[in-house]
Amino acid sequence: MSRLIIRNASLLSFNNGFKTGNDTLAIESGRIIAIGRWNELEPLAEAGTELIDAGGKALLPGFNDSHIHIWKVGNLKTFMLDVRSAKSMEEMLDMIGDYHRQNPQLGWITCRGFNEAGWKEGRMPDKSDLDKITTKKPIFLIRTCAHIAAANSKALELSAIDADTPVPPGGVMQIGKDGIPNGIFSETALGLVSKHIPAYTKDELKIMIRAARQQFYSLGITAATDPAVDPLLLQAYHEMNLSGEMGLRVNAIPILLPDGGERPFDLPEYFVSDWFSVNTVKFFSDGGLSGKTAALKRTYKNTAEHGVLRLQRAQYLELGRAALENGLGLATHAIGDAAIEFVIGCYQELSKPFPGNIKRIEHLGLPEEKHLNAMAAAGIATSMQTIFISELGKNFRQYLDQQYLDHCYPVKSVLQHGILTALSSDAPVVSDLNPLKGVAAAVTRRDNEGFEIAPHEAIRVEAALKGYTLSAAAISGNAKMGTLEPGQYADLVMLDKDPMQVDASELSSIKVEKTYINGICVYQA
Ligand SMILES: [Zn+2]
Repeated sequence: MSRLIIRNASLLSFNNGFKTGNDTLAIESGRIIAIGRWNELEPLAEAGTELIDAGGKALLPGFNDSHIHIWKVGNLKTFMLDVRSAKSMEEMLDMIGDYHRQNPQLGWITCRGFNEAGWKEGRMPDKSDLDKITTKKPIFLIRTCAHIAAANSKALELSAIDADTPVPPGGVMQIGKDGIPNGIFSETALGLVSKHIPAYTKDELKIMIRAARQQFYSLGITAATDPAVDPLLLQAYHEMNLSGEMGLRVNAIPILLPDGGERPFDLPEYFVSDWFSVNTVKFFSDGGLSGKTAALKRTYKNTAEHGVLRLQRAQYLELGRAALENGLGLATHAIGDAAIEFVIGCYQELSKPFPGNIKRIEHLGLPEEKHLNAMAAAGIATSMQTIFISELGKNFRQYLDQQYLDHCYPVKSVLQHGILTALSSDAPVVSDLNPLKGVAAAVTRRDNEGFEIAPHEAIRVEAALKGYTLSAAAISGNAKMGTLEPGQYADLVMLDKDPMQVDASELSSIKVEKTYINGICVYQA
């Protein structure tokens, strides 16, 4: 039983308010066994104890990203082309063309990450753009939000799609001026094409998870919630857990309603272990703001569009009730005010007989005051993405009127209502999933172009760090992480600068020095 003591550290933890002043942490068998000052804990250093001097560096509970599509992050490093860096349609089409030529073995060209806001072309790619690359091989190109996609003619042909194809409820298939589909699909209609793409194998999914995990380590992320897991991915996670190779605290939230599928998936079994848990199921009530598919009460700026409400109330209530009866919690994606109102109404109806089950709203982009009061009263928690402000701020400014923009991702108001609020990245919706970027955006409310978005909703560094540690652990139902206390997992991140001490402008440039999981150093800068 090896013992590790880290001394001369600036320990930051958030249990029962913000605590500091301690400089020494003792770890044994993957758990924290003591925290205090070196002069008190020195007797714990026996022969054989590994002693590390942290040189005064900050040591925190490992970061916990409470909403991140783990396998998709890994997929963009392995099997799918990442086009998030494209600054124009032209540049993106060149990238896809190169990828197509360099990968003749692929049956489908799949890519993700375009964001047309700021492009000189000023519009989304459609079938005719992708046909310039090839009409012989299918191309499926997913927008950064994952709620919109474009397909080329070959993909439409293989999916047997024409103007008469029935569109599933909660989806849109765009029709061009010529009366035939132009290749752009939104929300549930993505499934019309995506269900024809050969599914990844379980082994491929595991490769993606490992690739993502490597990046997480380098960013100090020791725990993550995958918020949209299908049955095969769930099996992959279970197998990795059983074989002892998870190496990351994973909380999986299975989806019940597949896009384009006629029948819901079976309810998953409730499962909790040290490395892996399944305690919540996922629904999508609307789309995203950056692509104008989040369901709004008013219209998007300078348009007649309201976004898309995806759920059928009766089916949602039926599936939600079944999940609650089986001991599971509910997590529902809701961004627009109309979607949030719909979800809260359903949660209120469902939650009375099941007060203890987890109820989360994912994103919570545009809640009204009355929604926050209702959430607080019903014990509804949320996972929000301040990092959207920095990366997607330009979309928000382009698509939202001032009134909406002024209470976009209103984290301070949400916290003031006493709502359990975790922070997260939703990567790969954003390309930089660094938790410290999310902390910086929560504190500065500045987008990457330097504009402030609802600056009165800024929160303090301490509250933002809590959103990536303690509150993220609480929302995933795991009380053994998120704080530095005896008995907790020894999942830690050491930073080169103390986030409590630096200027807000320096927060996002703080570097991870070391990451520990279960008392083992898995990353060193
Ligand atoms: Zn997401």
